Amino acid sequence: MSFNHLNRPSPTQVSDVTNRADQGFEDTIDRLADYLSYPAISCQPDNHLDVRRLAAKVREDVAFVGLDNARLLELDGALPVVAAEWLRLGPEVPTILIYGHLDIQPVEAHNWSSSPHTAVRRGDRLYARGTSDDMGGWVSHLAAIEAWIQTHGGLPCNVRLIIEGEEEIGSPNLERFMDAFPDAFEADVMLLTDCENPSVDVPGLTVSLRGLIEVELTCSALEADVHSGLWGGMLPDPAIALCQIISSLVDADGRLIAGRRPITEEMVATTRDVPIDDETIRVGARLVDGVSPLPTHGVPPGTWLWRQPSVTVLSTTLPAAGKEKNAIRKNASALLSVRLAPDQGPEEMLPAIEQAVAACPASKSVAVQLKQVKTFGEGWLYDAKGPAFDAADRAYQATWGSKLVRVGVGGSIPFVALFGRRFGDLPLILNGVLDPESTAHGPNESIHLGVFSKAIAANIHLYSELGAIDPKDL
Ligand SMILES: [Zn+2]
Repeated sequence: MSFNHLNRPSPTQVSDVTNRADQGFEDTIDRLADYLSYPAISCQPDNHLDVRRLAAKVREDVAFVGLDNARLLELDGALPVVAAEWLRLGPEVPTILIYGHLDIQPVEAHNWSSSPHTAVRRGDRLYARGTSDDMGGWVSHLAAIEAWIQTHGGLPCNVRLIIEGEEEIGSPNLERFMDAFPDAFEADVMLLTDCENPSVDVPGLTVSLRGLIEVELTCSALEADVHSGLWGGMLPDPAIALCQIISSLVDADGRLIAGRRPITEEMVATTRDVPIDDETIRVGARLVDGVSPLPTHGVPPGTWLWRQPSVTVLSTTLPAAGKEKNAIRKNASALLSVRLAPDQGPEEMLPAIEQAVAACPASKSVAVQLKQVKTFGEGWLYDAKGPAFDAADRAYQATWGSKLVRVGVGGSIPFVALFGRRFGDLPLILNGVLDPESTAHGPNESIHLGVFSKAIAANIHLYSELGAIDPKDL
């Protein structure tokens, strides 16, 4: 059977596919468990062979599932990208590109309750490094594709698949792959599956990211350390000046003042629907007893987490424990990480911090140097509107009982900013299988199996919904 815009699948045909996926769900979990047994850690060169072995295995499976032209894209100095496609419906039907990554974060095995590279089921969750970030994301697509092909011999839309092996090191070569293999990225809609749901019951659509820079702040006063008994009380202490200047960057709550955005209606409206309460934060961030999240001042937490800049002290050269001496140190410096509002660039933030530093009285007492050390990621703010997003909402309504709730991400995801820059005129649907208890990048990473199952069903519906749209209308 072949579907096209004149012959879109009936509701019964779609539910035949979801039934098939339900019947095969245990096999899908087994497939996921197999992939999770590869320690495909991209930041550790010793594991690059594992990344390559997993990529080869996935290429084989993608062909087995029924996609055409399954191949490994290779470039010098890069780990391979798995690519495949199914374009049998021709140009009258939209082509959707599915992006995921098969590489994983490193593990500190002693902090895990079970072996990080062996999938273990406890309750309604499956534990192992990579379950939710990001193998469950793209395996949910393989399962949906397989169920369509097994049930009806084909898909209701054209599909391209891209699974990269370097996301966890910031996708340093993805743009080179886009340049070298432009055909592999050609699509009408992009589904980027590496993002979070606000809860296991509420599906999320990511529409913003914060940018990230690092700045180094140094206070100097002396050519060499001097005796604090001889000079204390008459000399500026660079260590104290540094602490005073850092303190002056934040308000009484501890939030960065420089570069702060005025709270707008739009900001509040797009963060209000997300069910983040003190308890979610307490559990998600593992606050210790007696400590509360920062006060919200009547603004939804999502506004503070996703739409406002923030600052974190990464390291300092303050005198360290075990290195005490009765001396005023000649200088002190701190490395600060500054998260940028989604629509804010370093060229706006750096002068704002410079101004704040200059305004602090302590910076008059010492020589102060501020420099931007690194830019890690650009921010991204997206207006998710149009037929593709209406289609996605229908698919999620049918399978989760809820439309996609617009959420932001407080971090930076370089591949998203890259897709935004290269393909910003296409609908970019950012979803995934993460939930607040997934602890991606941390110990005991897991996927909620109910979320996994609903993600497969949502993909099945989404292909059908997107396939029914004329590409010209997307
Ligand atoms: Zn990821």
